[in-house]
Amino acid sequence: MKMNKPKMASEKGVPSTSKVHILLAQLERMTGDSMVTDPEASRQITSKLLHLIQTQEKTGREVMSKGTSGMEVILSSLESTRDSQTTLNILCILSELLTLGKGRRVGAFVSKGGTGVLLRILISASREGQPSEELMLQLHSLLAKVGLKDRKLGVKARLSGAVNVTVNLIKKNLQNIKLLLPCLQVLRVYSVNMVNAISLGKSGAIELMFKILAPYSKKNTSLIKVTVDALAALLKSKTNARRAVEAGYVSTLLSVYMDWHRHDTWHRHTVIRKGLLCCLRNITNIRLGRRAFTNADGMRILYNSSSECLTVRTLDPLVNTSSLIMRKCFPKNRLPLPTIKSAFHHQLTHVLPSGPVAQLYSQPPGVDDVVDDSDDNEDMDADTENDTENEEDEKDEKDPRSLNEDIEKDINKLHPQKSPGRPFEELKVYERFFVELTEDFQGHNIDCSTTASTTSSSSSARPSRPVIVPTAQALSPNHVTTQNSQVLCPPHKGRDPPSPPSTATAPLPPPALQLDTFRFNKELSKKEEMQQELLHALECVSVKAEAFLNADKHKGSSISTRKPSQSPLLLEGIAIRCMAGGGGSDCGSEGTEDEGAVLEVPDTAQLLPLHDLDLYVEMVKGTHSVPQYTEVAYPDYFGHVAPTFREPLLERVYGVQRSKIFQDIERLIHPNDILDKLLYDLDVPSCPVIESDGESLKFNSQFESGNLRKAIQVRKYEYDLVLNSDINSNHHHQWFYFEVSGMRVGTMYRFNIINCEKSNSQFNYGMQVLMYSVQEAISGRPRWVRTGTDICYYKNHFARSSIATGGQKGKSYYTMSFSTSFSHKDDVCYFTYHYPYTYSSLKMHLFKLEAMRTPEIYLRQDVLCETLGGNSCPLLTITAMPESNSSDHICQFRNRPLIFLSARVHPGETNASWVMKGTLEFLMGASSQAASLREAYIFKIVPMLNPDGVVNGNDRCSLSGEDLNRQWQNPDAELHPTIYHTKSLLQYLAHMQRAPLVFCDYHGHSRKKNVFMYGCSVKETIWQTNISAASTELQEDLGYRALPKILSQIAPAFSMGSCSFVVERSKESTARVVVWREIGVQRSYTMESTVCGCDQGKYKGFQIGTRELEEMGAQFCVALLRLKRMTGVHNHQHLLDLESDLIGTQPKVVSSCSTTYVMDEDEPSFLEAVDYSAESNDEDGEADSEAGASSRDVSGTPDSCAAVRLSDSESSKEAWKTGRVANQ
Ligand SMILES: [Zn+2]
Repeated sequence: MKMNKPKMASEKGVPSTSKVHILLAQLERMTGDSMVTDPEASRQITSKLLHLIQTQEKTGREVMSKGTSGMEVILSSLESTRDSQTTLNILCILSELLTLGKGRRVGAFVSKGGTGVLLRILISASREGQPSEELMLQLHSLLAKVGLKDRKLGVKARLSGAVNVTVNLIKKNLQNIKLLLPCLQVLRVYSVNMVNAISLGKSGAIELMFKILAPYSKKNTSLIKVTVDALAALLKSKTNARRAVEAGYVSTLLSVYMDWHRHDTWHRHTVIRKGLLCCLRNITNIRLGRRAFTNADGMRILYNSSSECLTVRTLDPLVNTSSLIMRKCFPKNRLPLPTIKSAFHHQLTHVLPSGPVAQLYSQPPGVDDVVDDSDDNEDMDADTENDTENEEDEKDEKDPRSLNEDIEKDINKLHPQKSPGRPFEELKVYERFFVELTEDFQGHNIDCSTTASTTSSSSSARPSRPVIVPTAQALSPNHVTTQNSQVLCPPHKGRDPPSPPSTATAPLPPPALQLDTFRFNKELSKKEEMQQELLHALECVSVKAEAFLNADKHKGSSISTRKPSQSPLLLEGIAIRCMAGGGGSDCGSEGTEDEGAVLEVPDTAQLLPLHDLDLYVEMVKGTHSVPQYTEVAYPDYFGHVAPTFREPLLERVYGVQRSKIFQDIERLIHPNDILDKLLYDLDVPSCPVIESDGESLKFNSQFESGNLRKAIQVRKYEYDLVLNSDINSNHHHQWFYFEVSGMRVGTMYRFNIINCEKSNSQFNYGMQVLMYSVQEAISGRPRWVRTGTDICYYKNHFARSSIATGGQKGKSYYTMSFSTSFSHKDDVCYFTYHYPYTYSSLKMHLFKLEAMRTPEIYLRQDVLCETLGGNSCPLLTITAMPESNSSDHICQFRNRPLIFLSARVHPGETNASWVMKGTLEFLMGASSQAASLREAYIFKIVPMLNPDGVVNGNDRCSLSGEDLNRQWQNPDAELHPTIYHTKSLLQYLAHMQRAPLVFCDYHGHSRKKNVFMYGCSVKETIWQTNISAASTELQEDLGYRALPKILSQIAPAFSMGSCSFVVERSKESTARVVVWREIGVQRSYTMESTVCGCDQGKYKGFQIGTRELEEMGAQFCVALLRLKRMTGVHNHQHLLDLESDLIGTQPKVVSSCSTTYVMDEDEPSFLEAVDYSAESNDEDGEADSEAGASSRDVSGTPDSCAAVRLSDSESSKEAWKTGRVANQ
């Protein structure tokens, strides 16, 4: 390989009078033949040059200064000389040059091909028999210096045979420390390359390292350090790890480690100790290694040694690496469950043979689905082809393929194609949900002063209204009702609060009642029964309350009276709980009467205009749950009044996760300390609450949205909790909601939810759990508050069955751990993942929304359909009444653009409901903005797409065991009725040329902060795929950016930077993508709200509360108004043009400024910057950490261990505080 002829040094404007440059110029003239023919001259010149560089610091700078060709001249001479003295001189020159200012100089050396020259000299010298030790020493020293800057060095060295030269040198010079050291340094660099590591392992390098490795000694510590690092690099190969295990080196490593641990009392050699741990860490990446480690008593050894290190902060790297190894080797436990299938099963009438439910229940009996039979297939303890491939292909640190593979690249799928879907004949039945589009209001007196007359006119119409629940059967065309026109105008009830439901004497049930009315009509006998139950329940609630209920209950009107706000309420946590029809004797009727303190009902009605305690209980009665819940949780009953104080994101205290993990490890080390006392168990259906002796807390979650499956006391003040799977499913654990009582005041309790599934959580980034205290509530503070300390989320030692992981073996669950104390005796407290919002709450709110109606407001509540669980799915229509029934006004009324909103398809995302509540209240409000909005648009709203999931405490699915937001392409009328009919509504609109201007589905995001949107853009998707050719001719309207842009300007929680407009393949059956693609709605969005808090804007540093979420819902409305006002006309196209102006039409600029590519709508697959998961096994697939570490090794960290990121390290502290997402 001939080097390019370097330019004359003097040509570059460096004073040619400089001594150095005169020498360099002389050297340059010699390059070529004269270098060989006149060795004496070359020796002299180089030796003078060396002398100058050694004695005058500026010389080095002159050689290396920019624009000069000094390095080229030197390398070129080195390449052409055959004289050993000249070679040595030049190597010494290089060594001097590269020692100073090394970063840039080494870079220049490498980029000019220096390493290649060194390797060639090394090879040719080794071929000449006995190479000079001095030469070898110099070559290796230089290679060690520059090696880490040349990512190709490992490959070059292997291909040229230099690796073997070095290994042989080491073998022959075990006692020659001076030469051994640079050779080992070079070996360590070579070993970073996986192929090299494997081949080095084969040629005995591991045994060689163990020959050099030694117990504690003050001598030769740098040699030992390099040896340990090289060994750790070699052991990254699974083949090598196996080799080391088989040779018995695990116990050797442990005893060498302990020797250093004991003798290195001043902690001067922690790097060596850390290196030894890194060797153990890499060996235990294979199952064989973990077994050997356990057999060698590694757990106890590392546990004891790290306990001794805990007090010395500088030893944290040792403790953290030890804890990582121990966690890996912790024997996998079995979740304490008989099955991971949900404790409840809902029998579906219609099961798709290939569907998830069929699969779930087609397992042969006796199959243990909690853990896999054996872990034999867990991983191959050998390097796979892929490992080697990836190492060879060292082009990129990160594989861009994984980022791109989910992006939609099919250009046909990227063009919205209105798909007619079902024939119009079939869709025609949906006309009845759009009476506002045909209504002529003739016969209606629209004058607002005559409310009474409109009320009466519609009250006569209502009872005759046929109740049609559109199911697949009911929607056959011949069921089209012609009576629709009679129902279109809802009653104007004025501002009086409505009568509570189920009062037989109520003159007119408001529309919200349709839900209940319908059911009660259908099941009249059941209604009687339920009222009896309710009476019983209320007796429980208020046994001693004279003022409460009084005579009314005998009239059968249940709880219709306004309850005095100070009514005494007796409770012991069981009061409402025991309202079960069964008499309650078997689940602890222990005495509401003798034990409970007399408490009072909080006056939430004054603070919460949409809340009504009695109405809530009434709504619960009509809610159908699979477990047939008969209890009401107090927080939902009393309501939640958002606190006036802000709740900052929790500062994580240093070392929290580590200490929790150590406590977990202690379970293994000191098994006798563990109580294992069962306290609550849904799998014992008769009596899940196990009677307590007063030494333990009591648990319960048998109420709407509750989902605790099991509670086990593990230590005196520590509890393991297991969540129930979604109904008809065997996983989805994240949402939780449960009740605790029987606590001691002032004691710190630790709770561990041990079967979480997601690999990361906002609990690691400042989020706290929510707690509701009944005692606080009755003292006038009915509210959820963020609570808990020592919160962390980490992978635990409970094995996950491959049945629940989609076939992947060897996965673990995660623990969400928090500690808290209680301030009141005899309290009943609730803990939840996020502010609950039950289906019954929705019904109550919709009912109360009627009271907000003024004569100007057009509000209609329909039942879209019934769910599998027998709950109704409400559909709301909100707009303004026409100004008059003149044809102009009617025309304006009918032609208002539609806005279609939905929420809560994912039941665990309760924040979506709070945002929706904010939207609904704003829309029904008295503000002029609300009035303008109503006059501008017709709102169609499905506030809860998955009532069954909400009722039954699911996190993700409906009763079909499926994620409903993955069913939009082909919803099944029977299995996914809410999606089927919602999509049909949209298809109907598309057919009528009335596709909505905006579609938005409200969601909650569990792993990101702020509120943000996902939309659909062809261009932005194509940019992500780098198919630039196709995109150049593409014209795309930028209108999809307007709404999020406005929101980012007016809504403090909203962050444009988190928005994404990329169409992903994995999302092609979500509402957003289907409504965009099939219905042709350009502004089709998912709006995601954080469960945690904000890291920008006004709320930066604070956790999100219901006030902020409701505000978000209101701001969404305001943004729609702005969208409207930007035009001032109803011309749709004009609107779009203006939006483009507003945003700036430079698409490239737009794309670069804000789109974050996000892999998963709800859970981005990348992890946030805190690296708790670095402490995970290699086989995990989430081993970003490992990949990150190795790439850093290559790119310049000399210590192969230093790249391990530690959970509690200072560097990550900032990251978790802000919760920033590491955007890969
Ligand atoms: Zn969601």
